[in-house]
Amino acid sequence: MTKKGRVFSGIRPTGRSHLGNYLGAIQNYVALQDEHDCVYCIVDIHALTTIEDTVNLRQNTYEMAFDLLAAGIRPEETILFVQSHVPQVMELHTILSMVTPLGKLTDLPTFKEKVRQNPNNVNYGLVGYPVLMAADIVLYKTDFVPVGIDQAPHIEFTREIVRSFNYRFNTNVLIEPAMKTTEVPKVLGIDGKEKMSKSLDNHIELALTPEETRQRVMMMVTDPQRIKRSDPGNPDVCNVFSMHKVFTPAEEVQMINVECRRAGIGCVDCKKRFAENLNRALEPFRARRADLAARPDYVRDVLADGASRARVIAEQTMREVRAAIPLP
Ligand code: SF4
Repeated sequence: MTKKGRVFSGIRPTGRSHLGNYLGAIQNYVALQDEHDCVYCIVDIHALTTIEDTVNLRQNTYEMAFDLLAAGIRPEETILFVQSHVPQVMELHTILSMVTPLGKLTDLPTFKEKVRQNPNNVNYGLVGYPVLMAADIVLYKTDFVPVGIDQAPHIEFTREIVRSFNYRFNTNVLIEPAMKTTEVPKVLGIDGKEKMSKSLDNHIELALTPEETRQRVMMMVTDPQRIKRSDPGNPDVCNVFSMHKVFTPAEEVQMINVECRRAGIGCVDCKKRFAENLNRALEPFRARRADLAARPDYVRDVLADGASRARVIAEQTMREVRAAIPLP
């Protein structure tokens, strides 16, 4: 089947993925493979910009690979690799940094946010983060980058860097990527308030055991107005109900919607049902993941093969880039 252009995306090696990662990115990565040539990169160099991500970086990179493969990334067609295994990206990053105004980088809200989060580690890599991201994207002659609406400015910035490079060197070797905007659901953590995140410890990891999953689910905050079992609840403001809509059969969701409003079902029962449905939905993923974790050599080979295919594209791009700039 002829595919409709190349998709690129990078994912940080933050260790074992959680439900927010899965619903927000990974399941979309899997779906995109049906219609596009996909290049997915575990961005270990980006992770070096923050100290906490550097701890266990090697193991976390493998954990991410296990999750991606267990979720359904097909390495025989999709290129899955580790960013540092394709050193051409560092060369392109340096070249693109020469056409990127420093003031623009330090003005970016994402840079200011990172400075706020890491006041004791404001390193040069943090400033250049979007340039490295742009280098990743254009190195693989990317047609589309899958993004949520809130990430659109990042891709626009990449497009500006590409225009700037092509104008400065009077060339068209770099391609401006288009955005493939997807509706990314905002997955709240078990606190029911903040986006699900490891740093907030409000997450549910995909690879937990069924019992660990049940314990995390039982900690989920429900409708805050429902104090007693006899109080009617409001599923529209309840995070457990939002998750039921993703993992629970439609008839059962409908029953909960009705029974909650007339106090026919209690939150404890409702959460037990959710834990059961979630565990059932994750069972095949967990079985595949356990199998992959028991075969690290296979996963290492997959990543090595992905890097070798990625380097072919990267080297072709760099030959064109080197020819376009007036280096002696
Ligand atoms: Fe939420 Fe379920 Fe409790 Fe209703 S019964 S408030 S949907 S947890």
